[in-house]
Amino acid sequence: MIDVTLNTGAAMPQLGFGVWQVPDEDATTAVAAALDAGYRSIDTARVYENETGTGRALRESGIARSELFVTTKLWNSDQGFDEALRAFDASLDRLGLEYVDLYLIHWPVPEQDKYVESWKAMERLHAEGRAKAIGVSNFSEKTLGRLLSEADVVPAVNQIELHPRLAQKRMRGLDAEHGIRTEAWSPLGQGKDLLQEPVLAEIGAAHGKSPAQVVLRWHLQSGNVVIPKSVTPARIKENIDVFDFELSEDEVRRVDGLDTGARLGPDPDQMN
Ligand code: NAD
Repeated sequence: MIDVTLNTGAAMPQLGFGVWQVPDEDATTAVAAALDAGYRSIDTARVYENETGTGRALRESGIARSELFVTTKLWNSDQGFDEALRAFDASLDRLGLEYVDLYLIHWPVPEQDKYVESWKAMERLHAEGRAKAIGVSNFSEKTLGRLLSEADVVPAVNQIELHPRLAQKRMRGLDAEHGIRTEAWSPLGQGKDLLQEPVLAEIGAAHGKSPAQVVLRWHLQSGNVVIPKSVTPARIKENIDVFDFELSEDEVRRVDGLDTGARLGPDPDQMN
């Protein structure tokens, strides 16, 4: 497993496990399988309604807290200074943890215009050491620019939709300019038709790897943090078995060629 260094100085595993759409009652089994397979970073959110099941797996694993990297997120309806502080306490309670490694604003929701206020609360949580790092998700050039002009703490991470069909070259460049690490959500394109692209199978065959593993390798070699999701034990293992091969420069370029700019999720500047 490879770590990246955040602008706080903390190490974050470059590959983690996402639990969107995993029901709370299944989250404990899925997260336990991921920890067993060697994942140490888990990405949840208040709106996924599985912080309780996720936290249970973390505690029952017996793995030292310092070895784990736990991310959760502030939901849109909890934005605002006091609301964010309360929502954070509730998330920590459900997780059964004393701190999280990363707390993210899930969506900027420009229309409600509360993300700067919310960020001020996150800065307090960071100063208190209860959120070791704070960051954002789904921030664009516009919303990130505004946040940076009002922030005391530069976000450690911007978690955005990012996969070969939506390579986000410009946003990744902007994040990097500010020392913000780009984290890819839906890194496998949600397992939909992206994984059927013949070029991924061809490259995979040359390495004895699957299309999903080729995509994850493309992310790692592009410098992205990735958090693939699966509830299938064999796929959970497959998705972390990507540290024993490397794509050539030509293979990276061929995967780069899949970029059409097509989103699976909403445009973050429009999402309310
Ligand atoms: P993903 O790109 O990780 O795809 C997951 C799906 O791909 C699985 O449900 C499965 O159908 C398929 N899959 C997984 N492994 C496979 C394999 N080895 N071979 C073939 N198919 C495979 O999609 P995701 O869950 O949307 O994104 C990952 C994580 O990102 C989420 O769980 C969540 O933690 C995070 N996320 C964040 C946001 C945000 O707004 N911040 C939005 C979406 C997702």
